[in-house]
Amino acid sequence: MGRKNIRNLGELRQHRLNFRVECGCGRISVFAHGQLYNWALAHGWPTGLAAVAARLKCTRCGQPPRHWGFCCEDANVDLEQLARDRRDAHLKRAQWFHDLALRRDPRLGAQRRARRAAMAIFAQQDEEQGH
Ligand SMILES: [Zn+2]
Repeated sequence: MGRKNIRNLGELRQHRLNFRVECGCGRISVFAHGQLYNWALAHGWPTGLAAVAARLKCTRCGQPPRHWGFCCEDANVDLEQLARDRRDAHLKRAQWFHDLALRRDPRLGAQRRARRAAMAIFAQQDEEQGH
């Protein structure tokens, strides 16, 4: 790993290097520079590498990375897939509440909750149409 003077995601992208983080539990994740850059922008993250590392959590044990740096290895994390999975899970949950509301299922408790779930579905659809 060369000691290039790279401090933020923009510079990482310029050098076409990927971001590598290592957890105390032994898990190693490599993020593609382009995806990580877009992710940081989309989520309002600062782009400094130390700041980005501080926001990451291990998917296995939940700890922040113990070591981080850059590398030429291929990415083993797909942030776009993660984002899609998260959106699908959110939508599924909203749909579930909505279905309960339609059946007036006693598990639902308050109708207010159902209305909020339905609103979430509409917000989701709006968001998806915006893309
Ligand atoms: Zn871990």
